[in-house]
Amino acid sequence: MLIYDLDLDEITALLAAWKEPSYRANQIWQGLYQHFYDSPEQFTNLPKSLREKLAEHVTFSPFRVKIYQDSADGTTRKTLFELPDKNLIEAVLMRYGDPADNPQITTSPTGRGAKNRRTLCISTQAGCAMGCVFCATGQMGFKRHLSSGEIVAQVMYYARMLQQETQTVTNIVLMGMGEPFHNYDNTLEAIDRLNDPNGYNFGARRFTISTVGLVPMIRRFANEKRQVNLAISLHAADDEARVSMLPINKKYKIEEVLEACRYYVAQTGRRVTFEWALINGVNDTPEVARKLASRLKGLLCHVNAIPLNPTAGYEGRATDRQRAVLFKETLEQAGIPCTIRMRKGIDIQAGCGQLAGVVSS
Ligand code: SAH
Ligand code: SF4
Repeated sequence: MLIYDLDLDEITALLAAWKEPSYRANQIWQGLYQHFYDSPEQFTNLPKSLREKLAEHVTFSPFRVKIYQDSADGTTRKTLFELPDKNLIEAVLMRYGDPADNPQITTSPTGRGAKNRRTLCISTQAGCAMGCVFCATGQMGFKRHLSSGEIVAQVMYYARMLQQETQTVTNIVLMGMGEPFHNYDNTLEAIDRLNDPNGYNFGARRFTISTVGLVPMIRRFANEKRQVNLAISLHAADDEARVSMLPINKKYKIEEVLEACRYYVAQTGRRVTFEWALINGVNDTPEVARKLASRLKGLLCHVNAIPLNPTAGYEGRATDRQRAVLFKETLEQAGIPCTIRMRKGIDIQAGCGQLAGVVSS
């Protein structure tokens, strides 16, 4: 039993079964999510007998660190975790504009526009079943879903690491390995656990879920009216182009995805982000930008464009800076806001779509 798989009620029930008072559950919860303890011995406020019982029946560490790598510029760390069944998953920390020695700079609550951000990108599955052609995770295929605790534990690992620098994670993006809406329940349970005000207390607005566009799940998510940010991987403005990159488009056409997004905006009043990997000569021309703008017209949204990151299984090349700027300007002239995202960690295969659970040299 992995401790991070349990919510506070479940820990309370476990302790009740052991005839322990319920306040002990709160002590465990705080030890886990406020102090980031990862072994029973660290809970010195618990009686020794209880610590021994925990050690015997509960796992505190769902994976071991196989390797970690820092980008040459020191802003990005990728950690490869090995799960007990030998599956590998990755999580990436990206630091934006914060010299590590200056922890006192405050961040805005949303992290947006903040100078000092530490964004953590976590995995929701080992591998991915969606098979997007330009994505290294898609190229490796699906291994299995992660449990909610295995998702949570990635965050706790980095929270613990940053604690040593008196720093914290400021944003969490579910953009690592896997399709979060293919593992909907575990993903949302993990978010709830991390969001608990008496625990880690990570604000809903500082999470972003990215989905390839599983329409029924977008609608379900809309109905929950959460404050979590939603990003949709669009990458193409017509079905023919999109299906050649994202096989899921056979099942859910662009118009259905956009209709679900309109429903989401209507339900939540929140803006949708569309992700767009800029591929030279494929989806980066002014004509494509104009077509995209016309399809997104009237939708409360924003386009996040990122030059394609290289992966072994796909030949397309990244758009250069000049063409990327032209794409952005064309969209903006047509009334659709667009930002070109900074690429990070490319030298250690830590960029979007580069996570494949392999140890690179
Ligand atoms: N499965 C989810 C989240 C993980 S992928 C999804 O697809 O949205 C995170 C983002 O990286 C997605 O927008 C995905 O389309 C994008 N991506 C995948 N491969 C990429 C690549 N080689 N270069 C740039 N972005 C890529
Ligand atoms: Fe899966 Fe997202 Fe990669 Fe597509 S882009 S294969 S959905 S992880």
